[in-house]
Amino acid sequence: MTPVQPVRGTQSLLFEDADRLAAVVAAFDKVRRLYGFRRVEVPTIEPTAVFARTIGETTDVVSKEMYSFEDRGGESITLRPEFTAGICRAYLSEGWQQHAPIKVATHGSAFRYERPQKGRFREFHQLDAEIVGAGEPQADVELLSFADQLLKELGISGAILKLNTLGDPETRNAWRDALHEHFRGHASALSEDSQTRLERNPLRILDSKAHQDWPIVDSAPTIDEFLTGEAADFFGKVTEGLDAAGVAWERAPRLVRGLDYYRHTAFEFITDQLGAQGTVLAGGRYDGLIESLGGSHTPAVGWAAGIERLAMMIAAPEAEKPSAALVPLGEAAEAKALGIAANLRNGGMAVEIVSRGNTKKRMQRAAGSGARYAIVIGDNEIQAGEAQLKDLRSGEQRPVGFDSLLQALQS
Ligand code: ATP
Ligand code: MG
Repeated sequence: MTPVQPVRGTQSLLFEDADRLAAVVAAFDKVRRLYGFRRVEVPTIEPTAVFARTIGETTDVVSKEMYSFEDRGGESITLRPEFTAGICRAYLSEGWQQHAPIKVATHGSAFRYERPQKGRFREFHQLDAEIVGAGEPQADVELLSFADQLLKELGISGAILKLNTLGDPETRNAWRDALHEHFRGHASALSEDSQTRLERNPLRILDSKAHQDWPIVDSAPTIDEFLTGEAADFFGKVTEGLDAAGVAWERAPRLVRGLDYYRHTAFEFITDQLGAQGTVLAGGRYDGLIESLGGSHTPAVGWAAGIERLAMMIAAPEAEKPSAALVPLGEAAEAKALGIAANLRNGGMAVEIVSRGNTKKRMQRAAGSGARYAIVIGDNEIQAGEAQLKDLRSGEQRPVGFDSLLQALQS
């Protein structure tokens, strides 16, 4: 029988590969506390409408990438392609509004039916941070500072913050009309994908991955000509705040986010170290989203980061290893070793029991475990009530009473 294969675009990770993801999450958890973002959990599955209504029918995510299915009750369910929509659904349906504004963070799997490649999977993992119920530019600054400090905590220096504003609805509509006119003038030279975007969502052409579109994108009007006084003022406060907080940024006047609900601030942290999959963290302000879920007007801003992409950019985490390897020699010693190991582990000491092979093999395995010490127990040691504690670095060895082992290892 051929062995069962995994679902395309999913990952099964061993040792260092898994440790890398865990290291990213640990750094996220550390930094989120410094910024006062509380943990939340949201479901992996939501009614399809949660994503269809918020992310926008014209986006790749909704039109091509969602994992949707009918459950046994006939309801259309979707595996979350991102966290924002689910958090906003919970904000409304679970009464999280009463705590507004809320600063929240979560992480976990997300699912998109995409062509798998380096840094792009069908089940991947995201970090997510959101501030819901805050319309002040200070919220954008705090959220971006959090992202910036996270990347520093991870030791990632090669990611640049690209920043843009999408303005208020008035700005966005005027810009949209101008873009429509510009791209219509070049329609025949555009890629097929962009030609379909032309009528439905011309902003998205700016996001095109097709080379043939790029010169036409480069000559497109930028949003600056259309910013209302209010929108310009908002953006100015964000950039001033970033400067005050010491967060480096670059203006990217044609940066748009794929999702339809963005207003004002839009940003991406980009690196050239991951080939085509260069966006490690992205987000923006989505003041229109909660209304599309049936809530009242609620300003909000957030970001998501691909854990796999960050994990590729960090230094390898130190491998986990025991403090001591316990080497019992003989049957009586093997029984005794179980009690000793339990004591040491209860005392907070990581211990590995090595009980395969002959004496020489066992000592080799003890050294190979990465432990600093070997605790050797044979019949003589059981009689004397003490083990041989061997420093595997210096080779020195001394007897230590069974009851004093924890203390000896702690010192
Ligand atoms: P891309 O342009 O790379 O497709 P996106 O704009 O679709 O990204 P977002 O929806 O902003 O991505 O998701 C936030 C982050 O999640 C991305 O910046 C990226 O790091 C990560 N990400 C998105 N899709 C995938 C995927 N299929 N596999 C791995 N990571 C992903
Ligand atoms: Mg995508």
